[in-house]
Amino acid sequence: MPIYNAFVDKHNLNVEMSRVKSVEEDYGKPLTPERLEEMIQRVTGWALLNGAQRKITATEACERVEHVAITLFPSILPADVLRKAKSLQTSFQTLIYKVANDHEFMKECFSGLLSVDAFTKQLWDIYETVTNEGPAQEISLTITRNDFMMEPAEEDSAKENCKQVEFNTFAVGGCGMANSMVDVHRYSLSLEDIPFEEKQLPENNSIDGMARGLVKAWQLYKNKRAVILFVVEPCTPDHRWLERGVYRLDRSIKVIYRTFPQLIIQMSFGENRELIVDGVEVAVVYYRYGYAPKHYPTDAEFKLRLDIERSRAIKCPTLAVHLAGCKKIQQVLAEPGVLERFIDDTDVIKDIRSTFVGLYRLDAKDSSKIITQAIQTPERFVLKPQREGGGNNLFGDDLRNYLEKIKESPERSAWILMDRIQATRHRNRLIKAGLGPECRNVVSELGIFGVYISTPTSELENFESGYLIRTKPEEANEAGLCEGLACVDSPFLI
Ligand code: ADP
Ligand code: MG
Repeated sequence: MPIYNAFVDKHNLNVEMSRVKSVEEDYGKPLTPERLEEMIQRVTGWALLNGAQRKITATEACERVEHVAITLFPSILPADVLRKAKSLQTSFQTLIYKVANDHEFMKECFSGLLSVDAFTKQLWDIYETVTNEGPAQEISLTITRNDFMMEPAEEDSAKENCKQVEFNTFAVGGCGMANSMVDVHRYSLSLEDIPFEEKQLPENNSIDGMARGLVKAWQLYKNKRAVILFVVEPCTPDHRWLERGVYRLDRSIKVIYRTFPQLIIQMSFGENRELIVDGVEVAVVYYRYGYAPKHYPTDAEFKLRLDIERSRAIKCPTLAVHLAGCKKIQQVLAEPGVLERFIDDTDVIKDIRSTFVGLYRLDAKDSSKIITQAIQTPERFVLKPQREGGGNNLFGDDLRNYLEKIKESPERSAWILMDRIQATRHRNRLIKAGLGPECRNVVSELGIFGVYISTPTSELENFESGYLIRTKPEEANEAGLCEGLACVDSPFLI
């Protein structure tokens, strides 16, 4: 029997699927102001205890932390939606890897934008250099996160479909916080005597899977003295979870942390292109940094990236996979017939395509039509450049004004236009600085993590590895955790 029906039968509840849903309002009792204050204290304390935390000082030495922004309760999510999103992960990973290995396709996608996007051009040049030289390492590791928003189905507004926001291939974050939240939300439900079954708040295994990916890549490198290098910026604790995951699997594996500036000074090559940092050979390079132009203030950082790419170390990810995660690729994949270039199975193509919303290039012969539409109704679109990390997309008036400016200029090739997903609204309390704790209308974003290890000709590992849910006020444009826009959440499956 579906979880939802079992739950409804057992607890004699009947929640209408089509209206705005809230765990607290549908299943709980009203919270007095005193009780709410107590709940917030106890639940945020539990969050800290479970590791849902972020650093509050910018120095590497000091580990002062506070709880991350969280929702007070989990958010209602149809079990089908989570199942569907998870089941697509391995197909998406294969697809992106095939794209990354198709040099002709990559060239077709990027050729129009390299002359107007200096940062992507710098990365592209490194990718071309290495592609022409041939790889020093055949094996590559990718840790992904496929982000979706839930949208009411057209045919039946009581049903929800997951629609892809973007597929991340570089420095995906939030896994540590996501793992912590199941216990936090089981606790908040228990405090309020809201009944639930264990499987309604499913265990979240993202750290275990990712750590398994890192360990497997390390083993494939076949040098027991070599280390895993975490390329980091000083201030996030999220990757510490992964170090712990690796440690729990194999204590003999050493993880070292280095920033770009440290690596520029400390890195060298061995005789056979081994990557050496401070005299130690590196088996796996795991990037949590290096996705934004500001990470490359001088040519030395680009040179560093080239050197790492040329080395024998296993990269997570390679520059080819990094580029395959660009929004331009996402847009081209949505064009008619393009998925068919990479996938034979028509059912898989159908499933993947069902998650796409309208994606549009701005430099086609007939682009003026969609540009005019977006200028007239900017609330229906999002304008995106080839950037990662949040805060780069344009919405509403900003979108309209910018489109007006670039609509005739070559610069428009650097951007893509996307239908704005009309995400299903629900209700929850967002416990974060600067926002009151009242129950408000919110929308959620579901990210599915995955691990992929391969050579250019064979898949060695391909698995889905847990989820992240971020929830934000319905009126907020973006849902970045780092920028403090969104709260970490977990699903209450029905
Ligand atoms: P980034 O690489 O900066 O994370 P994203 O494409 O993930 O870029 O967009 C950032 C955020 O903007 C998303 O997390 C989401 O909250 C919002 N967003 C992006 N695309 C859409 C869309 N098509 N519809 C609604 N919201 C979107
Ligand atoms: Mg994103």
